[in-house]
Amino acid sequence: MRVRKMSALVGAALILGGCLVLYMMMDLAVFPSDVHDNKWVQFEGRLKQLEVDLHRHHETVGKLKHTIKHLISNSPIPNQYQQHSNHTVTVSSTTTIVPESHVSCSSQFRTVPRTDIQMLDVYKELKFDNIDGGAWKQGWNVELSEQEWGKRKLRVFVVPHSHNDPGWIKTFEDYYHSQTRNILNNMVSKLSEDPRRKFIWAEISFFSLWWDEIPAETKEQVKKLISDGQLEIVTGGWVMNDEASTHYFSMLLQMMEGHQWLLNQIEFKPRNSWSIDPFGQSPTMAYLLKRMGLENLVIQRVHYSVKKYLARNKNLEFRWRQLWDGDGSSDLFTHMMPFYSYDVPHTCGPDPKICCQFDFRRLPGYGISCPWKVPPQVITKQNVAHRAGLLLEQYRKKAQLYQTNVVLAPLGDDFRYDHASEWDAQYNNYQKIFDFWNSKPHLNVEAQFGTLKDYFNAVREESMPEGFLSLSGDFFTYADRDDHYWSGYYTSRPFYKRVDRMLVSYVRATELLFSLAWGTKQSSSDWLLAPESGLTKLLSDARRSLSLFQHHDAITGTAKDHVVEDYAKKLLEAINGMQHVMQQTAHFLLSPPQVPYQPNSEFVYFDMDNMRKQHYSIPEKAVVFFGEGFESQRVVLYNSLTWRREELVTLRVSTRNVKVTDAAGISVPSQTSPVFQEFSDVIAESHYDITFMADVPSLGLTTYLLHAVLPAKNIDNAMSHVKLLNFVGSAPRIEGFEYIEVVDEAKEFSIHNDHLSAAFSEQGLLKAVTLKDTGVTVPLHLDFARYHARQGQERSGAYLFLPDREAETVKWDSSPVRIVEGPLFSQVHMHLPGVQHTVTLVNTQGTDSLGLEVQNVVDISDQVNCELVMRISSNIKNGDDFYTDLNGLQIIRRKRFFKLPLQANYYPLPTMAFIQDQAFRFTVVTAQPLGVGSLKEGQIEVMQDRRLNQDDNRGLGQGVTDNKPFPATFRLILEQRQPSCQGTASDHPAGLPTVAAHVASLSLLHPLFHLLWLGKTQDKLESRFAPMTREPGSDIHVVMLHTLTSQSGNAAGLVVHRQEMDPCFPLEQFSLSNGLLNVSNLLPTQFGNTMKEATLSFLDEGKTVQKNAAHPICHMEMSSFIFTR
Ligand SMILES: [Zn+2]
Repeated sequence: MRVRKMSALVGAALILGGCLVLYMMMDLAVFPSDVHDNKWVQFEGRLKQLEVDLHRHHETVGKLKHTIKHLISNSPIPNQYQQHSNHTVTVSSTTTIVPESHVSCSSQFRTVPRTDIQMLDVYKELKFDNIDGGAWKQGWNVELSEQEWGKRKLRVFVVPHSHNDPGWIKTFEDYYHSQTRNILNNMVSKLSEDPRRKFIWAEISFFSLWWDEIPAETKEQVKKLISDGQLEIVTGGWVMNDEASTHYFSMLLQMMEGHQWLLNQIEFKPRNSWSIDPFGQSPTMAYLLKRMGLENLVIQRVHYSVKKYLARNKNLEFRWRQLWDGDGSSDLFTHMMPFYSYDVPHTCGPDPKICCQFDFRRLPGYGISCPWKVPPQVITKQNVAHRAGLLLEQYRKKAQLYQTNVVLAPLGDDFRYDHASEWDAQYNNYQKIFDFWNSKPHLNVEAQFGTLKDYFNAVREESMPEGFLSLSGDFFTYADRDDHYWSGYYTSRPFYKRVDRMLVSYVRATELLFSLAWGTKQSSSDWLLAPESGLTKLLSDARRSLSLFQHHDAITGTAKDHVVEDYAKKLLEAINGMQHVMQQTAHFLLSPPQVPYQPNSEFVYFDMDNMRKQHYSIPEKAVVFFGEGFESQRVVLYNSLTWRREELVTLRVSTRNVKVTDAAGISVPSQTSPVFQEFSDVIAESHYDITFMADVPSLGLTTYLLHAVLPAKNIDNAMSHVKLLNFVGSAPRIEGFEYIEVVDEAKEFSIHNDHLSAAFSEQGLLKAVTLKDTGVTVPLHLDFARYHARQGQERSGAYLFLPDREAETVKWDSSPVRIVEGPLFSQVHMHLPGVQHTVTLVNTQGTDSLGLEVQNVVDISDQVNCELVMRISSNIKNGDDFYTDLNGLQIIRRKRFFKLPLQANYYPLPTMAFIQDQAFRFTVVTAQPLGVGSLKEGQIEVMQDRRLNQDDNRGLGQGVTDNKPFPATFRLILEQRQPSCQGTASDHPAGLPTVAAHVASLSLLHPLFHLLWLGKTQDKLESRFAPMTREPGSDIHVVMLHTLTSQSGNAAGLVVHRQEMDPCFPLEQFSLSNGLLNVSNLLPTQFGNTMKEATLSFLDEGKTVQKNAAHPICHMEMSSFIFTR
C-alpha cells in the first residue's frame, strides 16, 4: 500500500512538472484575447497582465493539487447508479466537500465576498426622493468646470446604432420587410462611402434573414466592413433578450444560436455587449457573457435613483461581479448609460433639449421633431463654431459623470437609418462638427464615429478595468420615472410564459437525446444529421423560435395582440417539431441493434402524451385506447435529467381496469381515478386516469406496458377514493366509482404522505403543514387576492403595475371541495371565482413527493383591470428579508422597503422564491415565470394573471386583455433547518436553494416525457436505453448537449453547471458531487476519448483533454466541452 502511494506521489509529481512546463510554453493563454488590443502596448497593462497570469497560475496549480490529492486518496467515486439499482437507500457518502482551498474556486457563501458597491446596501442607503434636477430631471445641474477642461483632452466616440425589435408593434417579419431590410441595405452602401463612418448591429435574427437574400458580393462587402472595424456586431445574440423572465438555458441558447451563426458565416467573435432596452438588468447576463469570452457590456434601463447615485461618485462604469464571487474572476467591465433613454436626446449629455438638436433625423421636413420645440440645424461654415460649442458642453458634462476622458455618445433609436437620407443627415452633419473640433487643438477635443470596440479600447488605454470599482447585485425592479415600476411585465401574458418553459424542456431534451443518438451509434446514425432527414432543420427552427421568444417584447408579454399570436404560432410549431424529432430519435435508440436501421424520418412511431391543437390551447392528454387487438399498449418514458427518477406518471386510458407492468412483465403499483370535466363535478364517460410508479434511468428511456385486464387480476391497482364535501345533490356515478362519498356540509380535513400531512380549511384551501419527521406543524394559509388599477392618467398596463392599494382577498359563497385519495397520491380540488385550484400530495421516493404540488387554472376574462395573486401566509419570522432567483441560475436576497411603493417590492420569479427563519424555510417553486413579492412578514405572493384594459404609455398602444386559462404549476416546499448548522453568512447578499428546491425545480421544468407507441405491442423494440454509468450528483446538471453542425465539420457541445446548495437542508436520497466531473460517466460510449475545453457559446476552443478524467468544476460555475465523433 505504501509503495503504491509512493509511486502515485512520484507519478503525480512528474505529471505536475510536465504540466508546468507545458503551461509555461502555452503562456497560460487558454483563450488568447485580441493581440492587437492596445492595452498590451502599455507598460502598466503588461504589469497588470502579469498579476492576472500569476493569479491564473495559482488557479491551475490549485486544480493540479486537487487532482493529485484525489489520486492519492485513491477512492473512486461510488457508483450511485448501481447503488440505486439495488433498490437500497443510499446514504450520501459522496457528500465529500473538498475544502475550498484545494480547488481555487471563487464561490463564497460562508462569508460575504468583498465588493466595493453592493446593490442591496445601495437600496438601504437610497432615499428614492425623486427631486427635480432641472434640465437633467432625474439628476442634478451638472456644472461644467471650464478650468479643468482647459487641461483635459476629451475623446468622443459617436456610436451610430439602430435598435431593431424582433417583434413588438409589428411582427418580426413585418419589421424586416418594412424597415430592417432597408436599414441593413443602407448600411452597406453608406458605410462604404466613407471609411470614417461606423455602425453597430446587435440582432442576428434580422441579420441572418437579410444575409440569406443578399448577393455574394454584398456579403464580401459586409465582411470587409467588419474586418476594417467600420461595422461591429455587438452581443451577437439572436435577439436582445429580456433579463427578468428568461431562464439561463434560453439566454445561453439564444446567444449560442447567434454566435454559432456568426462563426460559421462571418468568422466573427463578438467581444462587446449591448443591452440597452431590456426592462431591468440581471447579473446572470454578465456571468454568461463573461464565460462566453466577451469583455465589455453596455446597459441602460436601470432605476433613475440608482443611476443618479452611481453618477454622483463617477461609478457608472464598474466591474460587475457575481454575488458569490470571492476573487473577482467573474468581473465584467460594464458601462451604464446615465440618462432616461437610449435615444439621441438622452445620450449626448444631461440636457435633452440641447441633445435633441443633434439628432439630424429631426431636421425640419424629416417627419419627427423635438418635443422641447427647438429643432436641429444643418451644420454650415457659418454656424459650426456655435453648434459645436453647444454639443461639446454636453459631452464634457457627460464625461464628468465618468472616470475617464472618453465619452460614449450613442447616436440612434428604434428602427433608425431606414432611409438613405437619414444616413447622410446624421453622418455628414456630425463629420462637419468633428472636422471643426479636430482642426482646433486648443479646444482639447478629439471626436470621431466609433464602435463599442473603439470606445472600450480607448477607456482601457486610459485606465485598466482594475482601476474601477466592483459592483455586485442586480438592477430590478426598474423604474423609468416617478413611481412607475416595471413589475407588471413579470406576469403579463402568463399563458405564453408557460409555453416558453414547455418549449425549453422540449428543445433541451430533444437536443440531448438526438446528440446521444448521433454520438452513440456511429455510422448507422449518420442519417440523423443528413439534410434529407430534415431533423436538424426542425431542431434549428425550434431553437430559433425559442430564441426569438427571449426578445424583450416577447416573453415579457409586451407586444401587440397579433404579434403575440405570431410568436405563439412559432412556439407551437417548434413544440410539434421537437415532438417529432424526439419520437424519431427514441425509435432509433430502441431499435434492435442486430438489424440495420431503416430510417424513415417522416414516420410517426410514437404519439406524445400532451398535444396542443392550437397555439392558444392548452395541452390535451392523449387517450390510450384498449379494445380488440389492443389488449396491451406500450409506453416509453424519457428522463432528460442526470439522476434516476422514481416518480408518478399519469396516463389517460379508455378502460378502468388497466394493469401496469414494466418491460419484464413485473407488475407495478398503480391507482385509477375518475376524470372530472373542467369547471364541474361531472365525471367524463369512458376516460380514466391511471397513475403508476415509474422508474426511469438518468438521461435514458424505459418501457412500461399497460394491459386491459379483469378487475380480479389487477391486484397492484387501487381505485381512488373520491369524496365530495359541501356538495348538494345526488352523487355522480361512473363504472368503477359506484361509491362516491358525498357530504352536504363543509368541514376541515387533511391529506398525508410519508413525509408530511397537509391540513385544509372548510373552504378547501391549505391551512397548515405538519412535517412527520419531527411532528412540528407550521401554519401555511393559502388564499387568493385581487389588485385594482389606480385611477387617473397613469394606469397599470402591459409593463407597469400601479395598484390603487393593497390586494383584496377574494371572497365567495361556499363551493364543493373534491378529495381524491389512494396509495400513490391524494388530491384536493376546489374552485372560487376565477380560479380552479388543485393541490396534490404524492407518495413516492422521488422529487415529486418533496412538497405539495399546486395547480391554478385562472380565468379573469370577465374582469376589468384585475390582477390576481395567490398568497401564502405563515408564521415564519423572515423580518423584511426574502429571496428570489435570477434566471434560474442564482438566488438573490431581497428586502421589503417601506420607503418604496408596493409595486417596487415586486420582483421577477423565474423559478423560485423563499422565506426563512432560524427554524424553517418555505420555498415556492414555479413552472412558469411570474411576478413575486413578500409584502408582509411570513408571506409570499405570486401574481397569477393580469388583465389591464388600457395602455400604460410606453409605446405599446393597447392593454392586455387576451387572457387565456392554463394550469399554472407550483411546488410548495416546507423544510426544517438542521439545528446549529452553519450555512450562508447571515448578511450575505445571495442565497442558496435547498437540495429539495433545486431538484424539484429541475424536475418541474424538465418533466418525464411520455411516448405512446403507435405500433403493435409485440413489435421488436429494446425496452431500455440507459447510457450513463454513474450519476454525477444532484448538484451537477447537464444544461445542454447540443449538436453543432457547420461546414467545417460536425461536433457536439456539452454544457454542465454545478449548483451550490444550502448545507443546512440535506436530503438523503439526493447525493452531491465532490466537485470532480468525469464526462465518461455521463457519455461513456458516445463520441471519442478526448474532448476540447471551450467557452460557453463554443466561440473559442481551448485545450484537448481526456474525457475519462476528473475535471474540477467549481460551485456556481459552468463548463463547456466540444466533442467530435
Ligand atoms: Zn426594444
